[in-house]
Amino acid sequence: MKKLFSIFLCLIVLLSTVVGCKPQNPGDGSLGFGNVQEVKNIILLIGDGMGPEQIKAGNLVQRKGLYLDKLPNKVLVETRSNDGEITDSAAAGTALATGVRTNNGYVGLDPEGNQLETIVDIASNLGKRTGIITTEDLIGATPMAFASHNASRSAYNDLALVSAQSSNVNLFLSTGNIMGHYTATGGYKIVENVDSISESTEEKIIGAFPIAATAKEGTDFSFDRMVTEALDYLSKDEDGFFLMAEGAHIDHGGHENNIMYMLRELVAFDLGVKAAVEWASKRNDTVVLVTADHETGGLSLANGANASNLFDIDGDGNFTNIRWSTDGHSSADVYLYLYGMEMNYVEKSSFESNNRLKNIDIFNIMKGFLVD
Ligand SMILES: [Zn+2]
Repeated sequence: MKKLFSIFLCLIVLLSTVVGCKPQNPGDGSLGFGNVQEVKNIILLIGDGMGPEQIKAGNLVQRKGLYLDKLPNKVLVETRSNDGEITDSAAAGTALATGVRTNNGYVGLDPEGNQLETIVDIASNLGKRTGIITTEDLIGATPMAFASHNASRSAYNDLALVSAQSSNVNLFLSTGNIMGHYTATGGYKIVENVDSISESTEEKIIGAFPIAATAKEGTDFSFDRMVTEALDYLSKDEDGFFLMAEGAHIDHGGHENNIMYMLRELVAFDLGVKAAVEWASKRNDTVVLVTADHETGGLSLANGANASNLFDIDGDGNFTNIRWSTDGHSSADVYLYLYGMEMNYVEKSSFESNNRLKNIDIFNIMKGFLVD
């Protein structure tokens, strides 16, 4: 009887292979495309300064490779700004948030200085909740590109004031101090501890926590915990939500040409991606996009670099298998990954003949999910 049953099972497996049933997981360690038809929720994760070589290095140091690099729909993205081959985080954040290529330093404005509608505004106008998480101060250029407007990314006070008074953001989570604008003029309720994020019934909340890459997975102040708490808060709205979550310090490790710093931050970011995708994989209405705003440091790994020799140093104390070409940003392309469904980028964007997207296409893809 047992034998008969196993023959039956084998037949079913064989049949489903022959008729081409698509498995959820391809079996090579990579993730399936997911089964989303109608998109209700969008999660955008941005690894600031996370280029392909950073991901390669992360794959070497993580025994099973980075989780994010197992996501399907992987495509290269060109990141230049309107006025430079090399973008800063303000122009790159604005491109992702609004679909417009602007000048370096500009936050939420087009090159002529006009205010732009963001993906946060679009989602909010559809009745969705919106959230922004960053592992640095809220007034950083990447989060502000989704919530504010200014021709100077360092006009911190003005950026904060505008985002407090007129953004459509329901949830802000960051490190550092929360400036008084959010509570005094914006009506945001401060969440004092991490558990209170998902439990909150307030329409507008803000929390500042010491989010750290050194915090263990799932514990207070880890990036992945912030993502999970935010998802539980945002998903209380039956109309759905948009969430942007940024791993800000991958960029800082690149600026310092510090491979250990960069990798620690990248691994913490990767756990946030895992938390988001695992959350989305239990539903059929949520897409997850993972990308970077630009590459930082001009990192390259030497031919033959592997897990055991990546950190080899020569007599001068320099790493022999790692090179940094700058302490600034580079023009290197970054990746976009998408989980939720199989994506035809040629249809969904201004896909170019040289097989890569522009960063502004990422906005258009997200908008296309929300507005027909
Ligand atoms: Zn930077």
